[in-house]
Amino acid sequence: MRRGMALARIIGAFFLLLACAVRLAVAEAPQINGVRSGQLDDASRLVIETSQHLPISLFLLAEPYRLVVDFPASRWRVDAKAEAGKLSAPLFKGYRFGAPQPETSRLVIDLDTAAVPEQIFWLPPQDGRHRLVIDVVARGETAFRIAAQGLLANQKQGFFTIPEPTKRKAGAVPLPRPRPTPAAPALASNNAKAIKGVPIPPPRPLAANNATSRASPRWVVFVDPGHGGKDPGAISVNGHHEKDITLKAAHELAKQLEATGRIKVVLSRRGDKYLRLRQRIALARMNRADVFISLHADAAPSSKARGVSVFTLSDKASDKEAELLARRENKVDLIDGADLGSVDPEITPVLLGIFQRETKNQSSMLAGRMLMAFDDLPTRKRGHRFAGFAVLKSPDIPSVLVEMGFLTNKQDERYLLDANYRRQIMQRVTRAVVAFLEASRPPLPNVLATN
Ligand code: ZN
Repeated sequence: MRRGMALARIIGAFFLLLACAVRLAVAEAPQINGVRSGQLDDASRLVIETSQHLPISLFLLAEPYRLVVDFPASRWRVDAKAEAGKLSAPLFKGYRFGAPQPETSRLVIDLDTAAVPEQIFWLPPQDGRHRLVIDVVARGETAFRIAAQGLLANQKQGFFTIPEPTKRKAGAVPLPRPRPTPAAPALASNNAKAIKGVPIPPPRPLAANNATSRASPRWVVFVDPGHGGKDPGAISVNGHHEKDITLKAAHELAKQLEATGRIKVVLSRRGDKYLRLRQRIALARMNRADVFISLHADAAPSSKARGVSVFTLSDKASDKEAELLARRENKVDLIDGADLGSVDPEITPVLLGIFQRETKNQSSMLAGRMLMAFDDLPTRKRGHRFAGFAVLKSPDIPSVLVEMGFLTNKQDERYLLDANYRRQIMQRVTRAVVAFLEASRPPLPNVLATN
């Protein structure tokens, strides 16, 4: 009898302990305590409040556009809010919360348009509240595609941790403010960030563009004639300036691209004007360019060096000559004493890395197509080369730099001064760009494997 009671007590104690352990585990499960949104210059800001600093994982899905934020298994504790609701900031529609797998919690943000995260950070914790901030910007279909594919390729790495600062830095990050009423058009403030001396194009109505892009795509190609104004670029054997030759070539390329009826061209400069490299990048991004083409015709120490090369961005140069060339081109920004370090657009480093990897792949594909198209040009083909050209640093636009020839070589100089030759080379660039754009539109993922 006594033994029976002792056994009952032991069993009772065991269940009590089990109950405590379960309760403890539940209490310690992270919680999602709030989801808010607000407008900030050209970005829409999402703030997710949690009970603790959490690792996350990000995805973008298309048809319809969605931003997916995964957390380790967390509980939904948003006061008086169901697990789905509306968000007021322009680029967001609403949110949904769920658990695709027992160990994963998922917040899906329905986007109004092809918008991508550019900034992601944690605010310093305050009274036990932890806040993850994600700033989302509409940069067009190509930027969305690059971000979505880059994030998907990164999926194998699972959750990643963004550090949470302990103290707020000077110049604190503003929190969302309520959306002005009546509701502004979704992209009205998209070009709010002006760049000194650079005209700001009107915003592209993305919704309309998306609608038409499915039926008959009208891509935006950004054509950048190298140098200009107080920066003449290379000077030829007979005293011709690179800046004039690149401008003529750019106008020819613009004409050819527009003639396809499927491409809108934006030129970085139409006349003899000095522009910094980062202004060229910013203009291309503002215009939501699908492709960035910088045109150059440079000099070499040897007058024998000649031929056409297509360059893409790389930290490591393909050869010594490429490295020197990139260094010389990048010095252009120092004419005004500009800081080269600021060429990288402001994107959270982990995202910048993910986007740039994808952009580099795309840029290489474009370079390959161009070189193939150059096959029957009379000039020498020097191939696909790479180096750290600052002007190719757009994180979300496939970018190439075409060295059309060497002004220090008599034969190349003759070619570059010949309108007929420029037309030949630009016809081939156009063919390659159209083929690239047509091929770079495979359907985007619309479900995640775990959905
Ligand atoms: Zn140049």
